[in-house]
Amino acid sequence: MQGLVVLGATGSIGRNTLDVVRRNPERLRVLGLSAQRDVAGLHAQCVEFRPRHAVLADAAAAAELRERLRADGIDTRVGDGAQALAELAAHDEADQVMSAIVGAAGLLPTLAAVRAGKRVLIANKEPLVMGGPLLLAEARRCGATLIPIDSEHNAIFQCLPPGSRCGEAPSGVRRLILTASGGPFRQTPVGDLDHVTPQQAVRHPNWVMGPKISVDSATMMNKGLELIEASVLYALPDERLDVVIHPQSTVHSVVEYVDGSMLAQLGESDMRVPIAHALAWPQRWTSGVGGLDLGRLGSLQFEAPDLQRFPCLGLAREALRGGGVLPNVLNAANEIAVEAFLNGRLRFTGIATLIEKTLDQALSGAPPDGGDLASILAIDAWARARAGELLNA
Ligand code: NAD
Ligand code: MG
Repeated sequence: MQGLVVLGATGSIGRNTLDVVRRNPERLRVLGLSAQRDVAGLHAQCVEFRPRHAVLADAAAAAELRERLRADGIDTRVGDGAQALAELAAHDEADQVMSAIVGAAGLLPTLAAVRAGKRVLIANKEPLVMGGPLLLAEARRCGATLIPIDSEHNAIFQCLPPGSRCGEAPSGVRRLILTASGGPFRQTPVGDLDHVTPQQAVRHPNWVMGPKISVDSATMMNKGLELIEASVLYALPDERLDVVIHPQSTVHSVVEYVDGSMLAQLGESDMRVPIAHALAWPQRWTSGVGGLDLGRLGSLQFEAPDLQRFPCLGLAREALRGGGVLPNVLNAANEIAVEAFLNGRLRFTGIATLIEKTLDQALSGAPPDGGDLASILAIDAWARARAGELLNA
């Protein structure tokens, strides 16, 4: 029986993770669950999974959950705040930690799990973009194992030679090709993108995901963040990472070897597949997802992405190429821009503009890149402040 902590349990990845747990009750015991402030969601999960610990970021929400669990006679201990979250992520009895908080908020708990030498299943891509080198170095130093959950990176992991480890360049590989659905606006006339609404942007054609990553998919910043994520996880430079649009989301990514072989992982667009793979690795467990009916699938389409339509993808590539503070600044500015778009304060096309302006100022104005946690947090704070000022200008 393995002890599992799920950070971000009430979100899309968190709920899919618990569904895989539900199907493998003899293998996994839920030790701890966390959320930001969704009391009802976390309460229902506590009733079902009876974790020893629950943590809410928000103190008032935690007090309410504590009260409700006491009334139910459930003895889950409820903590709140950043310290409790980091402690849960590093819990002695946790064998596996699912990192599924959205955005930069996941950096500290993910780092805590890594520093405790855990097996960390990493869905939360933003910390890898902010401070990938630190996370990978700490994983090496502390004996943590990172297993990617992001469907593309998990697909790549599945197609790499046995013995490959995150943070080390895989042997015999020429190129990694990330597939992208192209999101809801793949065929929208470019001139109409000025006026698309948050509601349209979060309606992804193939995946059901949280609002932030759904907007990132619509701008293709998601694929941009994933390029940086791939560069960190597989220790490969920008010129050996490609993106191809594949509207069906059936091929989840491709590894091209030096001998011309190309290995791909295929499956339904259902996150329980990579989640079950990572939880079970190197074994295989049931996920609740069936295989594809290839005969009914017919054909698969691939096309090159249009950077005019998706300027965020180009910005992310520039940040990857430039390195230093740029990936971290890109991520922070994107979080500010996406939030502003979701709140109706910024047009869809304003997202890329705001990020570009913040990046322009970063080369001269951002705090230096020391590679340590303090400088990662300082650069993140600087970029958020700059993007906020630009938004209000
Ligand atoms: P979501 O919005 O559905 O869920 C986010 C979870 O994090 C919730 O449990 C929420 O309570 C918690 N949370 C949010 N802000 C927090 C904070 N400040 N402090 C503590 N907890 C906080 O998001 P999601 O779609 O599940 O995505 C989670 C992560 O996984 C993201 O980084 C995303 O990019 C990545 N990811 C998601 C998918 C997907 O299919 N949803 C696929 C690949 C990668
Ligand atoms: Mg992905």
